[in-house]
Amino acid sequence: SPADHDVLEPPGGHGPPGGTGEPVLVVEGLGKSFGDHTVLRSVDLRVRRGQVLAIIGPSGSGKTTALRCLNGLERPDAGRVLVGSDVAVDFSRGASRTQLAALRDSSAMVFQHYNLFPHKTVLENVLEGPVVVQRRPREEVTAEALELLGRVGLAEKRDVYPFELSGGQQQRVGIVRALALRPTLLLFDEPTSALDPELVGDVLGLIKELADEGWTMVIVTHELQFAREVAHEVAFIDGGTVVERGHPDQVLRDPREERTRQFVQRLL
Ligand code: ADP
Repeated sequence: SPADHDVLEPPGGHGPPGGTGEPVLVVEGLGKSFGDHTVLRSVDLRVRRGQVLAIIGPSGSGKTTALRCLNGLERPDAGRVLVGSDVAVDFSRGASRTQLAALRDSSAMVFQHYNLFPHKTVLENVLEGPVVVQRRPREEVTAEALELLGRVGLAEKRDVYPFELSGGQQQRVGIVRALALRPTLLLFDEPTSALDPELVGDVLGLIKELADEGWTMVIVTHELQFAREVAHEVAFIDGGTVVERGHPDQVLRDPREERTRQFVQRLL
């Protein structure tokens, strides 16, 4: 029952500290073009259970597209995506509808612009995925949703509409909505870049809390200081390829590649 477990706890339990568990996400040779514009060229990524991967890089380098490919919001032209032990999609061979659905279910996305349903209340926004898509019992999901909303300080906002909330509150609802899906992977697409500066800290604090809880996460972010604090690994993407990846201190403080050095020098 919902009361028996901590709703902020990831399914399958916590990852070991530092993300040293088994690989939960394996991406190999991911490629994506829009028309004749190649956006991703053979991107490889690997994330272990409980690990936080931060993806950084210049605007237009393909970060968002890569993230969207991970859960089937974009369809890659080439490459393999494996999530957990159940989902394996080889896009080079053509993915079946069932495989794509499984890929979509394995992760939940937190969007830059929150993407809440404007005509649904806060609670209805959180219930939509678990009840309508996952067909879980409404009563059980409601109890869980209210507990999650309580954890982020928004229990009393359950019946209001998104436009009545600040950006920071809307993004906390976005995060709760993702958690309520109990995904294997949490994907964040520049979760704070649309927020007023004074609201950024709140949302970053919540994401850090989730990292400490052992959630497995991929975060596209411009907040390099945050990436350094929260991520176990940083991947620098430029021109649609992973130029460099490694420990945050190494990539952000002592990059091996000149392109990485130029990028981090401008932002840190
Ligand atoms: P980033 O997240 O690093 O800023 P994006 O992944 O958003 O980069 O975009 C990478 C490139 O792909 C950009 O040149 C962008 O214009 C292009 N792009 C992204 N989505 C589409 C799309 N749906 N149709 C055509 N081009 C796209």
